[in-house]
Amino acid sequence: MSVESLKTEDLNPFSIAQHYFDQAADRLQMDPGMRAVLRTPKRCLTVSIPVRMDDGHYEVFIGHRVAHNMARGPAKGGIRFHPDVSLDEVKALASWMTWKCACLDLPFGGGKGGVQVDPHKLSKLELERLTRRYTSEILPMIGPDQDIPAPDVYTDSQVMAWIMDTYSMTKGATTLGVVTGKPLALGGSRGRDRATARGVQFTLRQACAKLKLPLQDARVAIQGYGNAGSNLATLLHAEGARIVAASDSKGGVHDPKGLDPAALAAHKELGASLHTFNAGRPITNDQLLELPVDILVPAALENQITGANAERIQARIVAEAANGPTTPLADDILFSRGITVVPDILANAGGVTVSYFEWVQDFYTFFWDDDEVDRRLEIYMRRAFDTVADKAAEHYCSLRGGAYVLAVSRVLEATQVRGIFP
Ligand code: NAD
Repeated sequence: MSVESLKTEDLNPFSIAQHYFDQAADRLQMDPGMRAVLRTPKRCLTVSIPVRMDDGHYEVFIGHRVAHNMARGPAKGGIRFHPDVSLDEVKALASWMTWKCACLDLPFGGGKGGVQVDPHKLSKLELERLTRRYTSEILPMIGPDQDIPAPDVYTDSQVMAWIMDTYSMTKGATTLGVVTGKPLALGGSRGRDRATARGVQFTLRQACAKLKLPLQDARVAIQGYGNAGSNLATLLHAEGARIVAASDSKGGVHDPKGLDPAALAAHKELGASLHTFNAGRPITNDQLLELPVDILVPAALENQITGANAERIQARIVAEAANGPTTPLADDILFSRGITVVPDILANAGGVTVSYFEWVQDFYTFFWDDDEVDRRLEIYMRRAFDTVADKAAEHYCSLRGGAYVLAVSRVLEATQVRGIFP
């Protein structure tokens, strides 16, 4: 890798998403017209969100909702509340949802939303007012057969409940299917809270079997200890793996003997960061990525593994619980070093798959138990992993390459049989 290529590494998430799409389009020898259709987001909406703060003054936040593609069904994708949210990030996340839903063969397109805000600085009432006003601003785009939001970074089931209520009050009818990731009391699905982690676990089992790497006693480092990261730590720990490191936005903790996920979660519950945990030694997020482990799980934000650190990654498997944690340059380096990357659009698809189950259950108003959700999720994840591995073998490429070829070919086929209107 040249110093020049490192300096010019493009970290714009939408350029990165387009790069992976273009690679698949090349492999599929897609014609330029269809390429232009599939790489262009269908709808982008940017809104201002005025909020009355508790002390009476007003603040204005900026939000976005993007429906990237709806060829195979309604747009589907989470809503992120984070200070770094930008339109390009939301466009990238929306396009990853298109490919993810197609990779799992779900009848959805891709969408995403975001508000540029640090929700930790808001009171609960301010957060509710922000959520409701954002919902009313994006209302023309969303709906159970149009575009269906879900939780993402720093949003949760309570936020989803406010979105569902705002939509329902405006339409005059209780509409469960307008969002997923809702509380159980409001048409949520059993297993949705840990679904992303379950999906990562299922794909890890398959990746480990392929590499003949036992999960039992495997050393695992997890960057990000929110919904995806903390649930995964619990699931893998129960399966006998050793969680040797974990982190949050402020830093992390490392103990080669293994950490107790429940104690880490209890520490976070107190509002403390993992770098102040009372066992192991504190580490930075950068150090965590380069630890001598068997499995590395980025479960926080984009662009964590880049050309600057990919040569120093020691894991045998990188399982992308986060969306877009590896840049294309880093991806090439990891592939050339023989490190297996289970790509985001496959690894973390358990969340949207159980969101699909939730949407189906809401329509039927007939709800499944935990075992039923897990059983069906495992079927979807297994089938997707096997099909992706076959595609990768067929095209002599990484699992990411295989996942994109599979996903893009499905969206292409749907677009071609529908035809371009008018
Ligand atoms: P979350 O809000 O529950 O947790 C995010 C975690 O990341 C927190 O522990 C936070 O402290 C940490 N974090 C934030 N900034 C960080 C930084 N700069 N360095 C290290 N850690 C940092 O979010 P989540 O739902 O667990 O989502 C995490 C990732 O998983 C995101 O990329 C998201 O898009 C992806 N994802 C989530 C779901 C889901 O169902 N929740 C589904 C698919 C993908």
